[in-house]
Amino acid sequence: MYIMIQSETVIGSQSDLKPNTKNGVIILMSQVYKVFLHTYGCQMNLYDGELVGSLLQSGGFQLISQPEEADVILINTCAVRDHAEQRVLGRLRTLGALKSRHPQLVIGVLGCMAQRLGEDLKKQVPTVDLVLGPDSYRSLSGLLKDQLSGHHGYLIGCSGNPQETYGDVLPTRREGISAFVAIMRGCDNFCSYCVVPYARGRERSRPPDEVLAEIQSAVEDGFTEVVLLGQNVNSYHWESTDFATLLIAIAAGVKDLRRLRFMTSHPRDLSDKLIEVMAEGGIVCPSLHLPAQSGSDRILELMNRGYTVSQYLTKVEKLRARVESLALSTDLMCGFPTESETEFEQTLNLMRTARFDDAFTFKYSPRPGTKAARLKDDVPEEVKIERLERMIAVTRALADESRSRMIGQKVEALLENVSPREASEWTGRTRCGRVILVPGAFRRGDIVNLQVEAVRGFSLWGQVNESQIQVE
Ligand code: SAH
Ligand code: SF4
Repeated sequence: MYIMIQSETVIGSQSDLKPNTKNGVIILMSQVYKVFLHTYGCQMNLYDGELVGSLLQSGGFQLISQPEEADVILINTCAVRDHAEQRVLGRLRTLGALKSRHPQLVIGVLGCMAQRLGEDLKKQVPTVDLVLGPDSYRSLSGLLKDQLSGHHGYLIGCSGNPQETYGDVLPTRREGISAFVAIMRGCDNFCSYCVVPYARGRERSRPPDEVLAEIQSAVEDGFTEVVLLGQNVNSYHWESTDFATLLIAIAAGVKDLRRLRFMTSHPRDLSDKLIEVMAEGGIVCPSLHLPAQSGSDRILELMNRGYTVSQYLTKVEKLRARVESLALSTDLMCGFPTESETEFEQTLNLMRTARFDDAFTFKYSPRPGTKAARLKDDVPEEVKIERLERMIAVTRALADESRSRMIGQKVEALLENVSPREASEWTGRTRCGRVILVPGAFRRGDIVNLQVEAVRGFSLWGQVNESQIQVE
């Protein structure tokens, strides 16, 4: 067991301080150590970064924004594609050079890549001192204190608690109006290409009362919008509460929350009940991220996605029919092993048929340990690149059309900041999640009713049609 005493609360002279005693360790920090934390990857990783920030602060560390001044540099990593890992390895090597000038500097790697590579990471980058996976963050402060007091060599902690949800840890959120709240962790889907179930472990949900309490606390801290996070929110369950019921409970039970979004939805598990909750509207926003991955049934089967193209499109039709002004986005992949040109064109067809408002497009990247990694990665790199470019072109065209369809519509915008390009304008988001520019002087968090009058680049542009600002 660790007993940690922060420097501010230490009683007695500095010479009384014993940095560490084994078993029943007492760690007394004679100075506040500074930690620089950088997060790569998805929203869940950003949220985990906020949890880590909170755990470090209660462990007596100070979070700073300049790596040069840090005693500890932590890199919170993503392992979904090889490219993401290569970026992290490059960053770690650069940090190694910093360490040669400051030998006391502790460098730690957190997140999915830490979990996936474990000890191998140390072999690849010898200057790394600590490797900790997503279920092990409770031990981070103690391990860092051990490191900083020079009592340990290289540390690795990737076994973690497979049931960990950090339910009692309130994340240190960055400033803003939109807060992330994880409702579950891990994933049980084992899509054949995906490393997430290996890096983040088995799926586990948080109890609804805990989720509601965290959202209420975020609202009390000034956040107007909450984005619920999970690898597959549609499989959320706690006793008799499923995901649709959780949304109803949040809408009824949290005071003063204005907007509720969620991601990611797995098409197989998206229920009619959820579509009806979205159709009801209220604080549940009409934006949905529904990764399709491919427009070919054969490839979907190889991906172990659990739906066909026609089942996917049936859900899209229901959603479009029931949820007014829905903005639908997706993830798509090209170059999965054995994907033919015709099968790839089926993906382009799916994009047009589903009329995606936005899409995140990726080249398949084999991930060691996954089922697909056993298949020959036989689509040549230049073909993957060419297919990716075609997907991006279709995405752009669909997104342009989607924005143009908004012209003339009345929308509600939640304002976030003065526009970085034009100081006389504010930028905000519509309920369906589109960025909108609004001329005028406002305050962060204002909600205004607008008429969309034009498209400016990737944003809408609108003017206040009734001068009613609904909240401060
Ligand atoms: N849980 C979410 C997010 C998973 S990762 C979901 O199920 O949608 C985000 C996206 O990265 C995936 O939707 C997929 O399109 C892409 N992706 C995952 N593994 C990949 C791989 N090995 N190669 C390329 N893209 C991948
Ligand atoms: Fe990966 Fe599939 Fe789980 Fe998403 S649902 S995290 S793609 S295994």
